[in-house]
Amino acid sequence: MALFRTSIEPGGSPTDPFLLRRPTRAVRVGSVWIGGGHPIVVQSMCATRTSDVPATVRQINQLVQAGAGIVRLAVDNRRDLHALAEIRQQVQANLAVDLQENYRLAEEAAPLVQKLRYNPGHLHHQEPHRAWQDKVRWLAEVAARYDCALRVGVNCGSVDPAIQARFPPEDSLGPMLASALEHCELLDRLGFGRYCVSLKDSDPQKVVEANRQFAAQRPDVPLHLGVTEAGLPPEGIRKTRWALMRLLREGIGDTIRVSLTVPAEKKHLEVEAAQAILADLAAGQCEPPLEQTGRKLNIVSCPSCSRVENEAFVQLAEKVRAICQPFQHLPITIAVMGCRVNGPGETDSADLGLWCGPNRVNLKRGSQLLGSFGYEEVLPRLEAELHQLASQHRQ
Ligand code: SF4
Repeated sequence: MALFRTSIEPGGSPTDPFLLRRPTRAVRVGSVWIGGGHPIVVQSMCATRTSDVPATVRQINQLVQAGAGIVRLAVDNRRDLHALAEIRQQVQANLAVDLQENYRLAEEAAPLVQKLRYNPGHLHHQEPHRAWQDKVRWLAEVAARYDCALRVGVNCGSVDPAIQARFPPEDSLGPMLASALEHCELLDRLGFGRYCVSLKDSDPQKVVEANRQFAAQRPDVPLHLGVTEAGLPPEGIRKTRWALMRLLREGIGDTIRVSLTVPAEKKHLEVEAAQAILADLAAGQCEPPLEQTGRKLNIVSCPSCSRVENEAFVQLAEKVRAICQPFQHLPITIAVMGCRVNGPGETDSADLGLWCGPNRVNLKRGSQLLGSFGYEEVLPRLEAELHQLASQHRQ
């Protein structure tokens, strides 16, 4: 694989200008380009309710000011669509719309944004009898009609169940890779080349492995890098830095996001953390080894977005971290998720999982639901589960 040198100025801030990069296709997203030797684009996502127009406009401007080249926001219903139309009139930013279960909203969202992100694992929810290939063909037509790029956003917590069924349950990378590769193949056959791919997992080592394997098979496709549900800072930053610095140093990755569990007013921290990664990389700084996942307690938590069921979610994640403090030696994973989009899937693979509803939190041990509790009530119950796990580990 030939590597070439390119500028990596994040959002225009001055950094050492050269980094070896793999030659991917160039994909335009409004006023920025992803891949093809263009500067690595920093992205972030709004955590405000999309339907709250003033708050979302403020959030977009905050992220752009911090240096985000593309800002994503969730659109799940007609109310969000109406809000998006108003938001569009008030901001200049390159916007990406995040489509999850309701992919049909793409047609009305596309004229208002520069990029559509769809999750292959959520296409089956709407019109379950329609083949996914038809849905992707339609999405590509909509994107082409409205001058939008696409992102095929594969996520470990919501892989297409039909693909998952073809792999042994313990294989988490195989289904993600297969899903991404199948969607690329279809888009290529359809003659739609203006797309990038992301393969996100909450385990940084899996992110490195999945992206390495994908880049080896599809060196032409631009990659959006990120560790999903990396969690609260500073741990979330540490995990993401570890994975992204490894990949970027190998020339893999064209756009990046650092997902952090922080309140909406602190979302600029995601952009600043991403810029710091690029600057340190350009300065040749080495990253210390990551504490091996599986050797100590690991908390994964989603960054929250418009879909978060209760604004108390970030505080819940902070309280969970405090309760877990005495149990750091336990080699277990705790997942804290803001809604049901990736909540049930991500908590299935954790030792203990909490995923939020509007007023209740579902507590799980592996895939088993232990019950649903109030936001405060769930904490002593979680602590009791931790004591039980600790005594099992002592035996
Ligand atoms: S789990 Fe829900 S709230 Fe959290 S980032 Fe994903 S979609 Fe948003």
